[in-house]
Amino acid sequence: MTTPDSFTTIDVVMTETRRFEPPPGFTAAANVRDPNIYERAASDVQAFWEGAAERLSWFRHWDQVLDWDPVGVHARWFVGGKLNASYNCVDRHLSTWRKNKAAIIWEGEPTDESRVLTYADLYREVNQVAAMLRSQGLQKGDRVAIYMPMVPELAIALLACARIGAPHSVVFAGFSAESLRDRIIDCGAKMLLTADGGWRAGKIIDLKSIANAAVAQTPSIERVVTLQRLGPDNHKVEMTEGRDVWWHDALAATTAKTVDPEVMDSEDPLYILYTSGTTGKPKGQVHTTGGYLTGVSLTHDWIFDLKDGDVYWCTADIGWVTGHSYIVYGPLANGATVVMYEGGPAFPDKDRFWAIVEKYKVSILYTAPTSIRTFMKWGTEYPNAHDMSSLRLLGTVGEPINPEAWIWYNEVIGKGNSPIVDTWWQTETGNIMISPLPGLVATKPGSATKPFPGIMADVVDGAGNSVPANTGGYLVIKHPWPAMSRTIWGDHQRYVNTYWAKFPGTYLTGDGARRDEDGYFWLLGRVDDVLNVSGHRIGTMEVESALVSNPSVAEAAVIGVPDEVTGQAIVAFVTLRGGETPSEQKAQELREHVAKAIGGLARPKKIYFTAELPKTRSAKIMRRLLRDVAEGRVIGDTTTLADPTVLDSIKQQYDDDN
Ligand code: ATP
Ligand code: MG
Repeated sequence: MTTPDSFTTIDVVMTETRRFEPPPGFTAAANVRDPNIYERAASDVQAFWEGAAERLSWFRHWDQVLDWDPVGVHARWFVGGKLNASYNCVDRHLSTWRKNKAAIIWEGEPTDESRVLTYADLYREVNQVAAMLRSQGLQKGDRVAIYMPMVPELAIALLACARIGAPHSVVFAGFSAESLRDRIIDCGAKMLLTADGGWRAGKIIDLKSIANAAVAQTPSIERVVTLQRLGPDNHKVEMTEGRDVWWHDALAATTAKTVDPEVMDSEDPLYILYTSGTTGKPKGQVHTTGGYLTGVSLTHDWIFDLKDGDVYWCTADIGWVTGHSYIVYGPLANGATVVMYEGGPAFPDKDRFWAIVEKYKVSILYTAPTSIRTFMKWGTEYPNAHDMSSLRLLGTVGEPINPEAWIWYNEVIGKGNSPIVDTWWQTETGNIMISPLPGLVATKPGSATKPFPGIMADVVDGAGNSVPANTGGYLVIKHPWPAMSRTIWGDHQRYVNTYWAKFPGTYLTGDGARRDEDGYFWLLGRVDDVLNVSGHRIGTMEVESALVSNPSVAEAAVIGVPDEVTGQAIVAFVTLRGGETPSEQKAQELREHVAKAIGGLARPKKIYFTAELPKTRSAKIMRRLLRDVAEGRVIGDTTTLADPTVLDSIKQQYDDDN
């Protein structure tokens, strides 16, 4: 296996020359039009972010922009500043015309369920829930675990916690009882907010039984508040006397209807959120208040070119950082209208997303490459059945987007006239770090383009020196930024070791990248997935994109396995598109296709066909588990694996073959 230390640079084998200028009309009306913004921000990073912080409403102005200790790795932004996140996302809009603007448009999975909450509605509900949480014993600084479906009360719960200064830790509602238990124990949550269940793919997800199993082993939990989403006719649940209370009963029993927003220090924790676990055991990232809110508000405004008339839909779950930053905190701080959808993309049929776009006239759509590849697999008849002329901007996040999927998104969904923002970032970074500013930056399929103003990204070799254009290396960030995670909850040393020890004072992202001759960044995959064939180090992204560029391939994952001759040989796991059948001939065709697209060196030695790839619950490909299978090792941490049967069948196939 290639470890991060065994290479200095990564070779580049893929060339992609297509280039898309922003539509002239788009640029003319864009929120950011001044190309000098990059230089201006770089010339004084602190002044740039200080200007951004003025977007927020502060109870007390800061005394110092940044206090940075690169040795102990402690960053404090807007030192001495006081504010409240729920005040910024809700209260401050009430004194403007936005009071009666739609804040959240919620669509349930059952097609007859929807709700609209204006900012005034949101104010009322956030206050009531905040008062309820207090009356249930929650105080400033207490941690709250949240395990809920995608209903408005989930967003309300986050804001209510923020209002009373209780850091929340949201656990994605697809996680098992063990995963929920481990996260509750790790952050020492005192209260759990959950629901009797939710709808997913036409079925009930039984959250309460899972929550009950988890809290049976979490001594820190004193109270469980359960929202009735499904109701007793759909689903009965078990409540524990003394510990459990229904959300609506607790609300009814609360006399206070409003709560003054707690005055929080800029550096007080806003939330704890665990990473997806693609590369190993999840890490509890701690995000603080002032810097985080500054970062998500500014990036949301500039990258999505937010206008007051926009209907903005981010399809992520609030259980992931994308939902925290770009469903809740960024958009609501900006007074946006946000669409929130409860369920799956194939219910009642495979056109649900496009039906939602048409129904609400969505103008900005933000989704993941994995979804786009699924839509490609399903076919164009589903989007083509709907009027999607309201769309004007598209975004992606979560994994590198293969150029073929990018082109499909551009043509089939964007009809060639909606710029695409491919946004690179992480749970740790809090906000988008590399992305086009859509009115300014021409796009290239597969490139996240340029670091956001004020983000000092670089690509370096193993010694920390910047590498020349078109050489791959470690993607790093050379200056702290306001929204960065401050620590790993309860384990600052792990935070230092993981991100700051290799290049002191510089943040190590763990991803490989190259910069091209125009200064565009191309993500190559994770550094610990890098392949090493005959002394050439190749990122997974390029080989996988070559495979996906074959019309019969829907998705691919590649790994390096030990090989006596070449050091490592490439093994590919491939999912074919609908209508295609696996065969030895198809495997041969794909091997040659890769060789032709990017060179004989990258030709996979072996191709396995599989109906699904092993993915995290956030739908990212887990190559480390494929490596474990290939090397006959005990399979590593699988708690974040979405569907264990996928790995079992791959293991079966692999073992039969070897
Ligand atoms: P863990 O850190 O526990 O292994 P994870 O890295 O999957 O989990 P996230 O923070 O959800 O957890 O994912 C961030 C990672 O997702 C990035 O480091 C990168 O590898 C990938 N990623 C996200 N967006 C993009 C993008 N636009 N292009 C390429 N890669 C991306
Ligand atoms: Mg990560």
